[in-house]
Amino acid sequence: MKICIHRGSKEIGGTVIELATDKTKLLLDLGLPLSKNSTHIDLSVLEPDAVLISHPHQDHFGLIDQLDSSVPVYVGELGKNLIFAARKFLGQDLPDNNFHHFEKWQPFQIADFCITPYLMDHSAVDSYSFLVEADGKKVFYSGDFRASGNKAFLFDKLLQDPPPNIDLLLMEGTMMRRNTDRFPDEASVRRKIEEILQNQQNITFLIASSQNIDRLVSAMHACERTNKVMVIDFYTAWVLEQVSQVSYKVPTIDWEQVKVYADRGMNMRIKNDPDFFGDFQRRLYRHRVTIDELEAAPARYLYYSKMSRSRIMELYKKFGPINIIYSQWLGYLNLKNNDMQGAKEISAYQNDPLVNFTYAHTSGHATLDILHKMAEALQPAQLIPIHTEHPNDYAKHFDRVMTLKDGEPLKLS
Ligand SMILES: [Zn+2]
Repeated sequence: MKICIHRGSKEIGGTVIELATDKTKLLLDLGLPLSKNSTHIDLSVLEPDAVLISHPHQDHFGLIDQLDSSVPVYVGELGKNLIFAARKFLGQDLPDNNFHHFEKWQPFQIADFCITPYLMDHSAVDSYSFLVEADGKKVFYSGDFRASGNKAFLFDKLLQDPPPNIDLLLMEGTMMRRNTDRFPDEASVRRKIEEILQNQQNITFLIASSQNIDRLVSAMHACERTNKVMVIDFYTAWVLEQVSQVSYKVPTIDWEQVKVYADRGMNMRIKNDPDFFGDFQRRLYRHRVTIDELEAAPARYLYYSKMSRSRIMELYKKFGPINIIYSQWLGYLNLKNNDMQGAKEISAYQNDPLVNFTYAHTSGHATLDILHKMAEALQPAQLIPIHTEHPNDYAKHFDRVMTLKDGEPLKLS
C-alpha cells in the first residue's frame, strides 16, 4: 500500500490523505483548509476511486463539491444529514455527490480496501477513526478525536479492544503545545453554564455552534437543573431533529424546556422547501416563544445563539446587564485573521459594562496524555503526524515516529 499526505502534514484542517494499491486510490478526508497559506490541491489530478469522510467538519469534507459527482463519497448518514442541514440554512445548493453510508464498527469493502469505522468522541457527532486494510497492511487513521466529551466511553472502548498489528498510525495532534487546563472536559463547561444560570438576573446568551451537540446537551442539562428554558433557532432545532433519530438523549423541540425563536430568514427557508423539511414548520410553530414572552421574564431563559445575533442581545440591555457565555474557539474573536459575522460586536462585549462576559469552552481534540493512550494501545510499527502544527514534536513524545511532508509519497513495506 502507498500513502501520500496531500495536505495536513503540518497544519490543522484541510486534511487530504491518499492511500493506494495498484488498483484503487482512496482519499481519507477532503477538507477545506483553515489557513490561507495551505498547500493547493488539484482534484482533477488526484482522480480518486472513492473518498472517505471522517466527520462533518468543513476542514475534513469541504472540498467534496469539487469532486466529480460520480465518485463514491462514504460518510456517516447523520454526518451527511448535518452537512445538508448547514447548506440548507445557508441557502446553498446541496452537494450532488454519490453518497454512501457505513455502520459504526461494521467492516465494509471499497474495491481491494477493507475499512472498519470506529465511532469516536469529538466536537462533531458521527465522527470516526478508520482502520484501513489492503495489500496485507493495516493503517489506522485517528480522524479528529478526544476523550473528554459526553461520548468519552467510545475512546475507552477503542483502548479495551484495539485492532492488532497496526503498520501505520496517522494520528492527529491539534493539542500539541496546547492545554485544556481551564475547562478540561465537557462536564466542566456544563458546571460553568449552570453556575451562571443559577445567578442570572437577566437573559443569558450562550454563543456556541449549533452542530456542537455536546454543548447543546450541556446547556439543556444546566437549564433543567436551574429550571430555565432553552431557546434555540430553527436551524438548531433542525440539527437536533436529525441527531434525535439516533439518540434519544438529545433535546428536541418536543421537550418541555425547549422553545424556538422564529427568525424570518430561517422561517422562509423552511416554508419554501416543504419537500425537504416536510411538516417541520408546523411543528416548530407549536413550540415557539415570542419576543413578548422573552421580554416579560428574561431571567427565565438561556438563549443558544450564534455570534451574528448581537442585534437581539442588545434588546435585553434595557433590563440590566446581560450574560454572555462565549462557548466556542477564542480564535474566532481574533479580528486580525477572521471575518466571521458578528465577531467584532461579540469581541467588544468583553469590555462592555452592560455585559457579563464569560468564556466556557472545551476542546474537541485529544490532549497529549490521550494521544499517548492511543499510541500505546495501537502499538503501531510507524506513527505519522497529521492535523498538527507541530509534527516535529511527535518524536519527543512517541516511539517509531516518521514525519512526511505534504505530497511526499511513502510505500508501506
Ligand atoms: Zn473536527
